[in-house]
Amino acid sequence: MSVLLEVLKANEAYAASFGDKAKLALPPARRFAILTCMDARLDPAKYAGLSEGDAHVIRNAGGRASDDAIRSLVISYKLLGTKEWFVIHHSDCGMQLFDDEIMSGLLEKSLEGATIDETGWHDHGHGPGSVHGRYIKWHTFKDLAASVVEDVKRIRSHPLVPANIPIYGYYYDVKSGRLVEVPEATAVGRATA
Ligand SMILES: [Zn+2]
Repeated sequence: MSVLLEVLKANEAYAASFGDKAKLALPPARRFAILTCMDARLDPAKYAGLSEGDAHVIRNAGGRASDDAIRSLVISYKLLGTKEWFVIHHSDCGMQLFDDEIMSGLLEKSLEGATIDETGWHDHGHGPGSVHGRYIKWHTFKDLAASVVEDVKRIRSHPLVPANIPIYGYYYDVKSGRLVEVPEATAVGRATA
């Protein structure tokens, strides 16, 4: 079965037992938001105990505090009433495996897939590639805990983020399923009003 058919079939089963979820309100009932990585091993609904309607989950590569992630967080608070935010990165993140130079170099060679081995990244496409990768900040990182601190700091000091929202900094351990606090991040993210 193709992925498309699998997804549509799964959705049919989901909708068949949709029940009371039709009555859910738009604003998240538990009034919090999580910014986390898109990594397929992470399921925020499971690792943080969420049901439909509970919380906002904002995901991107790395769970980074990009301008667009901050856009979502500001909407989450200003228009939809969340009161606490989490930044949750994770161990073994793919964002630690490359940097802006590597990514833009690969994209210049071709737009097709690349693979990694002990000697680094290799592009297998035929090209042409594009220089447009040079104009994007890919938000990679080397140090996991430092990346959480950096993002909490960036959100905390953003002019559109009010001082009364606590921002908690954690990472998810892909080997144990546990959330591990980054105390320096949580300290930086403390609400100050
Ligand atoms: Zn990741």
